[in-house]
Amino acid sequence: MKAILLENGKPVLKEVPVPTLQDGDVLVKMKACGLCGTDVEKICGQYTASQPILGHEPAGIISQSKVDWLKEGDRVFAHHHVPCYECYYCKKGSPTMCPYYRKTNLDPGGFAEYFRVPAWNVSKGGILKLPDSVSFDEASFIEPLATVIRGQRRVFIDKDDYVLVVGAGPMGLLHVLLAKANGAGKVFVSDVSDFRNDYSLKVGADEALNPKNVDVISEIKKNTDGRGVDVSIIASGAPSAILTGLNAVRKGGRVLLFGVPYKGTILNYDISNLLNYEISIISSNAAVEEDTKEALKMIYEKKVDVMKLVTHKFKLDEFNDAVRIAKEGKTIKAIIYD
Ligand SMILES: [Zn+2]
Ligand SMILES: [Zn+2]
Repeated sequence: MKAILLENGKPVLKEVPVPTLQDGDVLVKMKACGLCGTDVEKICGQYTASQPILGHEPAGIISQSKVDWLKEGDRVFAHHHVPCYECYYCKKGSPTMCPYYRKTNLDPGGFAEYFRVPAWNVSKGGILKLPDSVSFDEASFIEPLATVIRGQRRVFIDKDDYVLVVGAGPMGLLHVLLAKANGAGKVFVSDVSDFRNDYSLKVGADEALNPKNVDVISEIKKNTDGRGVDVSIIASGAPSAILTGLNAVRKGGRVLLFGVPYKGTILNYDISNLLNYEISIISSNAAVEEDTKEALKMIYEKKVDVMKLVTHKFKLDEFNDAVRIAKEGKTIKAIIYD
C-alpha cells in the first residue's frame, strides 16, 4: 500500500506492507485526513518529537477488525492519542497530560491507504462510529474541532462575549466558528495575512484586523467602549500574537493559549498587569474522547459548518503539493484523500 512517511525530514510516498493486526486492533481504509499545521512543522523540522508520525485527522472505513463491536464496512473516526483514564492526571482532570496519552499512535500514520489503530486506542474511546449523514471530509475535522472545543470550555465563552482570535489559520477559524456557536457576541480576528483575514469574514468573523495596517489594540478598544475583549484566543505560537492577545483583553478578562510557541520563546510582558488587572491565562493542549464526541455531535447537528474551511483537496500522491501551498500560506484547510 501507499503511505506518506518522513525520511530525513522529508515526506516521501512509499510502498509499504499493509499493517498486520494484533488482538484488539482494527485496520482502517483511509478516506480523508486533514493536513494540520503540526504536520507541516514536522516536515520543516521545527517539531521536537524524535520520531514524528504524519497525519492525525483521519476518517475512513473499517477493513479488518479484531474486536466484536467494529465490523468491516463501519465508517469511523480514529483518534491518534488516548489517555489511560486511571492515573493521577486523568483522575484530576488533565487527561491530555496522562503519561500514556502520547505513547501510541496510528500505524503508519493518517496519510496512508490503510492504517492500524492499536488496541489501546480502540479500547479507550479512540474510535467513533460516524452517522451516515456525516461525510468523511467533515469527520476529518473531529480531532481539530475537539481540541478547539476543549480550549473554549477551559477558557469559558459567555453569551455575548467579545472575543478576539489571534491567528486566522484553520485552528483560529475553527475557534471563530465555535465561538459563534457558543454564543459569543462580536468576534474579532487578527492576522498578518490578508487572505486569511478575508477568509475569516466569509466564515463569520465580524471584523478582521491586520497589524501591518492598523493598531489592533486601539481598534479593539474603540469597538468595546475602551475596555478590550472579554476573551482573547491565541491560535498562533508567535510571541507577538501572545502579546496582542494579552494587551487586547479587558480588566478581568481571559486569555486562551492555544497555538504552540517554539521552545525557548521568551515574552517581553509586564507580569504586574496580570494581577493588577486580574487577567487569567489558560492553556489547552489536545483533546480526549468527551471532546471528540462533542465535536462529532456538533458536526452532525450542523452547529458548526466545518466544510467552510476546506479550500483544497489532494490525493496521497499529491501530498507534497499540499505541503508546498500550505507553506506558501495559500490554503486554509487541505484534505488528503486516497
Ligand atoms: Zn492537528
Ligand atoms: Zn492517565
